[in-house]
Amino acid sequence: MSLLITGIGELFTNDPAQGGIVRDAAVVVDGDRIAWVGPAGQAPAADERLDAEGAAVLPGFVDSHSHLIFAGDRAAEFGARMAGEPYTGGGIRTTVAATRAASDDELRASAARLVAEARRQGTTTIEIKSGYGLSVADEARSLRIARELTDETTFLGAHVVPAGQDPAGYVDLVTGAMLTAAAPYARWIDVFCERGAFDGEQARAILTAGAKAGLQPRIHANQLGPGPGVQIAVELGAASADHCTHLTDADVDALAGSDTVATLLPGAEFSTRSRYPDARRLLDAGVTVALATDCNPGSSYTSSMPFCLALAVREMRMTPAEALRAATLGGARALRRTDIGLIAAGARADLVLLDAPSYLHLAYRPGVPLVKAVLHDGVLS
Ligand SMILES: [Zn+2]
Repeated sequence: MSLLITGIGELFTNDPAQGGIVRDAAVVVDGDRIAWVGPAGQAPAADERLDAEGAAVLPGFVDSHSHLIFAGDRAAEFGARMAGEPYTGGGIRTTVAATRAASDDELRASAARLVAEARRQGTTTIEIKSGYGLSVADEARSLRIARELTDETTFLGAHVVPAGQDPAGYVDLVTGAMLTAAAPYARWIDVFCERGAFDGEQARAILTAGAKAGLQPRIHANQLGPGPGVQIAVELGAASADHCTHLTDADVDALAGSDTVATLLPGAEFSTRSRYPDARRLLDAGVTVALATDCNPGSSYTSSMPFCLALAVREMRMTPAEALRAATLGGARALRRTDIGLIAAGARADLVLLDAPSYLHLAYRPGVPLVKAVLHDGVLS
């Protein structure tokens, strides 16, 4: 079944061959792939036709960083923080207790609800991490449930050392029995490399063990303060270093000279009332930047890529085009995917139609539900 989309107000392709942003364009989708992109006047025939009625059309958002397998929420912690208490990351243990106590069905229903919420806001690819189980059985089941919702699953047994456990012994568990149990359900391995979580040596050991088990590395790095995370990411060829809020010049240079994407998560700075990462410094140095939600119940409980994009423009001085590119193609690069994040023949048929004539409205009209339709794997919703 093929579908011809016409009446496109503005097509944001991320494809240099198409000239980036194209007007008077049409798109033909065949099954779950884009079959043709070009001037509306030259569009080939298709089985069905969709009139976008002047909508801007974009690639579906690629949310390359989320933590959706959890139970409970931490609204009270958020309220206390907004009343002046600092964020330390210690609240993760609250969610671990709630997650362990939840049934498989409860975890599945909660994560599925959040994936659907993200989809309504234009997200067509989402990465989901474990990290609220922190036992062999609970990490494995978190990933098993995540895998029902996405192929982009990440083992984050090294989120925090569980209460009452010895750090060295826990690293042995994460790199041993827990990794063995998690690996069948995970594509990626991640570690929270931060003061109070895992140090550089532990992070290197965990990511190296994961790579030996066939998982590709990514890392939570330099969020709460300076640290070795970004350098380790580059050294190990990680797909992405995530957060990147506190960087030295050497960190920026290392990222610029590598294939490691800097994934910025402004929802976390918003929700912890913290300093935003310096996106301009990274972009001006030639670093590939991605934007993602970090959706989790503690430090960034938003599933909205448009919200993160608006924050990136307003608070991180990204241009609207840079922010949209980071939220689509940047996310695809952070997941080492070439079939998503752009509108070009052969790419997956993941498209967003806005209730606006230009992508500029995403940041220009923050907080407004502008996504009027989503095409995911060629299916309209
Ligand atoms: Zn995270």
